[in-house]
Amino acid sequence: MQKIIIKINELFGLAFGDEMLEEQYNNEYLRLHKEQNILTAKVVVFLYFTYVPLVYILIGKDLEKLLFISVIGLSGPFFLLYAARKEWYEQYQVEILFLAALLAGSTPLIMYNITTADRTFFLVDILLPFFVISTMYGITFAFSFFISLILLLFFFNLNFLYAVSWDDFVMSAYTLASGVVIGFIAAYIMEKTARKLFVSQLHSKELKNILEYLKDAVAILDFESAEYLYANKAALEINGYSYEELMGTPLYVVHPTIDKKRIEQIKTTLQKEESFDDVFELRDKNGNPYYIHAVMQLARYKGKKAVVITSSNVTKYKKHQMEIEEMAVRDQLTGLYNRYKFTEYAELFMHQFKRNQMDVSLLICDIDHFKRVNDIHGHLAGDAVLKQIANILQENTRESDIVARWGGEEFAVLLPMTDKQKAYAVAKKITQQLAARTFPNIGKVTLSCGVAQLQEEDTLSSWFMRADEALYKAKEDGRNKVVVAASKKQEAF
Ligand code: GH3
Ligand code: MG
Ligand code: MG
Repeated sequence: MQKIIIKINELFGLAFGDEMLEEQYNNEYLRLHKEQNILTAKVVVFLYFTYVPLVYILIGKDLEKLLFISVIGLSGPFFLLYAARKEWYEQYQVEILFLAALLAGSTPLIMYNITTADRTFFLVDILLPFFVISTMYGITFAFSFFISLILLLFFFNLNFLYAVSWDDFVMSAYTLASGVVIGFIAAYIMEKTARKLFVSQLHSKELKNILEYLKDAVAILDFESAEYLYANKAALEINGYSYEELMGTPLYVVHPTIDKKRIEQIKTTLQKEESFDDVFELRDKNGNPYYIHAVMQLARYKGKKAVVITSSNVTKYKKHQMEIEEMAVRDQLTGLYNRYKFTEYAELFMHQFKRNQMDVSLLICDIDHFKRVNDIHGHLAGDAVLKQIANILQENTRESDIVARWGGEEFAVLLPMTDKQKAYAVAKKITQQLAARTFPNIGKVTLSCGVAQLQEEDTLSSWFMRADEALYKAKEDGRNKVVVAASKKQEAF
């Protein structure tokens, strides 16, 4: 029995006995075809309206009969249209089917009794209501076509059987049998097609669902206007906008960091290579920054040339990377820039100096007799002193100045927009502040500095050399001093 049911289900695309499938068919199919159902019902109502005047002509303008047929005939399709709109069939499937079948079946019988009309009326009369029932009920169009055909042939043959002649009987049996076979084949083919369509619709819906619940953000933009055409849940969550806010809004409005110029660049790449990927720094609706790694690809969406963007939130990794990058340019003990980063800045300032004659000065400072501090109080005490001196250097310089640990107990400072006099004043302030301080257990620690203002003829090494020479001079002069390197001679202040 189970096997037969499965076979029947397979043949007609039905789901008898399979609760899950049945529910899927009843709910999904009906929901998916709601619009189509209403349309079908409308078409049938329209056909009935053309059909009634035809009857009017054929039954010899008998108004009473016409009224009767009209009321009976039209009540069926109107009822179905109403039910389709109200979505009643989802709740009262059996009742609606029964009523519709009653109306559909009674009309041709009444017609047969009150008219001498051509038998083609049966065709119209039986087929149309069944098509409506079928699409509404969710038992597909093809299945009802099959039933309609059998019913049609039944009435058709009933008529022949009244004649009771043997030939007529054979003829009707033959017509009935061939009708059943033809109807069956037609139903089978149509059913298979309808079912395939339904399943593919279900699948595309499933895919859309998966897309919705993907952790990665997926957005689709119009290629020409860069306007949002679609955004999944993750995309909305990450940027904090609602679906309605995003749709139709161009990317450069939502994310001003990706301006029109950048979009044009991306578009050019996409047209050449069809895909593009990069890390973008963006801000959500509340202005909070986040980083995404986005892959953009050319696609078609809703008939338009589009860009599909899949992006993952890489804020965590990007921040980690930035931390590592920061560590690579910083001295671990003092947190100041290291020699590598300092040299990079020095080169940058040299270029700026050459371009717009900006004053730049360099300080190189060395702790006096630092070996003693280490020797007497230990390396850790020495480290603590290094940290404190680093703090003093930062406290007495501007945000735009670059302070670095140049070597063991040597520091270097780049002072943009600062001539040698001003640089001297800065160095002096630093040395004086340090000298005024008393380190617990250690006592006094002093610093000697050399100052060199960048000059036209300087190379990077000559500039540093002049600062170094000035520092050497400061040491020679008795330490706790600042010496400014002159272009030709070193001046002691
Ligand atoms: P001067 O006044 O001539 O500069 O004398 P100095 O003792 O400071 O000079 P010297 O170059 O002889 O000694 C530098 C000392 O700095 C040697 C080393 O022990 C110390 N030093 C270098 N790097 C560190 C460090 O990271 N931590 C500590 N505690 N000491 C360091
Ligand atoms: Mg030294
Ligand atoms: Mg020293």
